[in-house]
Amino acid sequence: MTSSTSLSSAPHALTRYGWDDAWAAEFAPYAGQGLLPGRVLRVDRGQCDLMTESGVIRADTAFVTPHDPLRVICTGDWAAVEATGNPRYVKAYLPRRTSFVRSTSSQRSEGQILAANVDHAVIAVSLAVDPDLGRIERFLALAWESGAQPLVVLTKADLVPDPDALAYLVQDVERAAPGVQVLTVSSLTGEGTDVLAAIVGDGTSVLLGTSGAGKSTLANALLGEDVMDTGAIREVDGKGRHTTTTRNLLVLPGGGVLIDTPGLRGVGLFDAEAGVGQVFSEIEEYAARCRFHDCAHEAEPGCAVQEAVADGTLPQRRLESYRKLLRENQRIVAKTDARLRAEIRRDWRMKSAEGRANYSAKRGGRP
Ligand code: ZN
Repeated sequence: MTSSTSLSSAPHALTRYGWDDAWAAEFAPYAGQGLLPGRVLRVDRGQCDLMTESGVIRADTAFVTPHDPLRVICTGDWAAVEATGNPRYVKAYLPRRTSFVRSTSSQRSEGQILAANVDHAVIAVSLAVDPDLGRIERFLALAWESGAQPLVVLTKADLVPDPDALAYLVQDVERAAPGVQVLTVSSLTGEGTDVLAAIVGDGTSVLLGTSGAGKSTLANALLGEDVMDTGAIREVDGKGRHTTTTRNLLVLPGGGVLIDTPGLRGVGLFDAEAGVGQVFSEIEEYAARCRFHDCAHEAEPGCAVQEAVADGTLPQRRLESYRKLLRENQRIVAKTDARLRAEIRRDWRMKSAEGRANYSAKRGGRP
């Protein structure tokens, strides 16, 4: 009895990977089936690498690769994996707390799951050029939609030596990111890195941003080593040998976990209407005060949105960015609906052809 008590109060080997009491509770039925918990480090061609209490294992993902691309197992998932077997199979994964989804570039709009169970979405923006606020708003929409808490990190702050100019830039970005912390960092001077490390030290983070935004430099500053270019990490395997593996989920020395998957580098929206609404929450608040419920905020009388633009409270740029992202989102949704409609139609045709065949068979005639 005492030994089981001390076992349950001992720190779980997976705690560093984000395991907590809530995950343990969710996992209980699988533990009852003799399955082991593991966090997915990477997924690759029908297999995945998982961190378990006894180290990294490779398992087959056949049971967790359904037709729906949003339900395919991905990096960051907490999985239930067989304790023995060759191959071992992942039997299930726990319900996701958050999920990053992007639209694929194919004609058919299908979402693709990029990362699961992310707490912090760190949006890196380089101060080498004037920040593109529209792009920041797009990343914010994606972050909010995922369920993660966004954070904007302005990198290369040393390139803006004038403190007034820097404060002005930060203020500009803050206006584009209501409810979001905006941090300046410089890997040259080390400024801000400790603040960032403290934030991401709790939970799982992803780095978002375009190329040149300084994501690799940020990641290396957090990881304390040069691993982000290749994702390669040296570790000791179960037999005490040093091996080099590639993974998309890394434990940070200061605590916390960082997910870096190639797909996260340039992301498009995928049905992120709620996320867009959250980025532009103040516009939606104004809109609620418009005289007409179906106000398009163009030239309608009593439009609270246009009033806010007129008195300078709401930048015109922001209203345009809001419209642009909503339009983009609607196009994606329309494409998805068209595909679904086509599938339903095909299904109906098959059924009706079947029906006709059955009908004529009963009548003993020909279709
Ligand atoms: Zn209006």
